[in-house]
Amino acid sequence: MNLGNLDRAKLQTALIDGHVHLSEIKDSERAVENALKAGVKRMIAVAMDLDSCRKTLAFAERYPDNVLPAIGYHPWSTKAEDVEDTLLFITQNIHRCVALGEVGLDYKVKVKKKLQKVVFSKLLNLAVQAHKPVIIHSRFSYQRTYEMTAEANVEKAVFHWYSGPVDILDKIIARGFFVSATPALAYSPHHQAAMARAPVDRILIETDAPVQYADRFSEPADLHETLFHLSRIKKIPEDKLARIVTKNAEKFFGLCDAELF
Ligand SMILES: [Zn+2]
Repeated sequence: MNLGNLDRAKLQTALIDGHVHLSEIKDSERAVENALKAGVKRMIAVAMDLDSCRKTLAFAERYPDNVLPAIGYHPWSTKAEDVEDTLLFITQNIHRCVALGEVGLDYKVKVKKKLQKVVFSKLLNLAVQAHKPVIIHSRFSYQRTYEMTAEANVEKAVFHWYSGPVDILDKIIARGFFVSATPALAYSPHHQAAMARAPVDRILIETDAPVQYADRFSEPADLHETLFHLSRIKKIPEDKLARIVTKNAEKFFGLCDAELF
């Protein structure tokens, strides 16, 4: 990968990072400044647990034009003894956010599946009541996360970093949901296959920073890597693709007037 080597000045469109863990980035202020310089003007900051929910909301207050918060409870962070407090906090603060996330299921972590499903189900219902889009983690649980999301009658959902089977991808698309692309497009055949198949008007781009993709931790400025690889896969020039995916994100997160809830 060539993280950091792209010509970032050439794009006309301001990009939106659809999924970044700003609360997990060491020097998050510098990461935001780097992103702004690189033309990544807005970032959807996601949260994983009570602590990161609080940090994410505080961070968004400091950058009201650039950092748009989502709060959630990640399956990796779920602990039986914290569920009640975390869900209460999310319920009380979701109105301050553009989305619910990161939430979902992960069948590779040790957290009991039953507990994960109970928490995810409650969060999906909360999103429906609050009319918020949902940012979904579905690693090794693609079928079940899709079914639960569809059955809960969620209005908008993005299956983040989708790398699952194509038959479930087809259901996600048919249902009107979205998938998102990460810098892993550089090397992940499953992720590449999914993004090749998904219609471009259902794709959001993101970094999932600070995830480590090559030899260093990522940051939101690396969104250009995602755009670059998606451009090659979709055979759409980067500037045109930038316009499309930014519009997708504006529509998905309700960032344009016509789409406000
Ligand atoms: Zn994430």
